[in-house]
This record gives sequence, C-alpha cells and structure tokens, in this order.
Amino acid sequence: MDGSTRKRTLLKVILLGDSGVGKTSMMNQYVNKKFSPHYKSTIGADFVTKELQIDDKQVTLQIWDTAGQERFQSLGAAFYRGAECCVLVYDVNVLRSFETLNTWREEFLKQAHPAEPDNFPFILLGNKIDLDGGNSRVVSEWQAKEWCDSRGNIAYLETSAKEGYNVDEAFLCVARTALANE
Ligand code: GDP
Ligand code: MG
Repeated sequence: MDGSTRKRTLLKVILLGDSGVGKTSMMNQYVNKKFSPHYKSTIGADFVTKELQIDDKQVTLQIWDTAGQERFQSLGAAFYRGAECCVLVYDVNVLRSFETLNTWREEFLKQAHPAEPDNFPFILLGNKIDLDGGNSRVVSEWQAKEWCDSRGNIAYLETSAKEGYNVDEAFLCVARTALANE
C-alpha cells in the first residue's frame, strides 16, 4: 500500500487568546511561511490544514482560528466541537493577555465540554518574544510555566510569529499532543 492510499488521521486544534496576540500570524507563518505586519483580523475561513508525518502516521492538522470575533461575541459551538487540543496564545509584552488566559481556558472547557476536563491537553504559547530584543516583556518564562504547572500538564513554548521562531516546533508539539488525545 502506498502513502496515498494510507489512512490519514484528522486532528482538530483551535487557537484561543485575546485579540492582537498573534494567533492568525502564527497560523499564517506555520502554513504559508509568511508574516504580515498589517493588522488583519479576518481570514475568511474557518480553518486551514497542514499535512505532516509524525513517526509513521500521516496526519492532517486542521487549525481553527477566530475571524476576530474573540473581541465581541462568542465563537459558536462548531468552533469548539471535537477539538483534540486547545492552543492558548498570549503576548509576553501585554499583561492583560496573560491575565485572561484562565477565562479562555474555562470558556473552552465550558463550550467543548470534553470527556475529561481535568486531563484535556492545552498548550500555552508566549508570542512576540522578538519585540525590543525581549526588553519589553512583562511576563516572565517562569510565571508562564508556573501558570501551566498549576493547571496540570500544560506544555509551554515561547514563539515569534514574526521571525518564525519556534513556530514549527510549537505546532509539532500541538500535533503530537492532539494525536495522543485522538
Ligand atoms: P490575532 O488577533 O491574535 O489573530 O493577532 P494577529 O495575528 O492579527 O496579530 C496582531 C498584530 O501583531 C499584527 O500587527 C501582527 O503583525 C503582530 N504580530 C503577530 N505576531 C507577532 C510577533 O511574533 N512579533 C511581532 N513583533 N509582531 C507580531
Ligand atoms: Mg486573528
């Protein structure tokens, strides 16, 4: 049997976090290897997909991003339904975006109501670490790891969607985590 006829595993993951933290940029950097400095809150699609291989498994990662509704309205049941991993994103330079993480986490658990809420896999990404050579950050790596550790086993990575730093690594971690939860 060749690769084209082999079954692919579909994994749904969703990106959550305050408006402006870089969710869309992260996804665009990962899927299209592009970064735009211009703020565009709408992408016009519910999700994008990326094919990858993890060990001997062919995987299609289906990444759901908001179209900017995170600011003013709820995202709707279809957005959350069936997600195998939830990626929480904040901006290391904006305290408020770190403080709202818990609200996003709880909103996810409420809307997606996974079978085992305590064991549901989240991944936390601290984005925009490139800004001001890291001098403008207000949330330390230690604080972020502390947040993760006190809520179970949440992996933490620091990224720059602008420079592409740790973006592939982050989504590989996301895909592995989602696969384990499939
Ligand atoms: P979203 O609302 O969470 O989807 O955030 P966007 O992806 O639209 O990004 C908001 C703004 O931050 C845009 O102007 C992006 O160009 C910028 N941005 C996103 N990621 C980074 C990053 O890693 N570094 C820097 N310096 N700017 C970023
Ligand atoms: Mg966006």
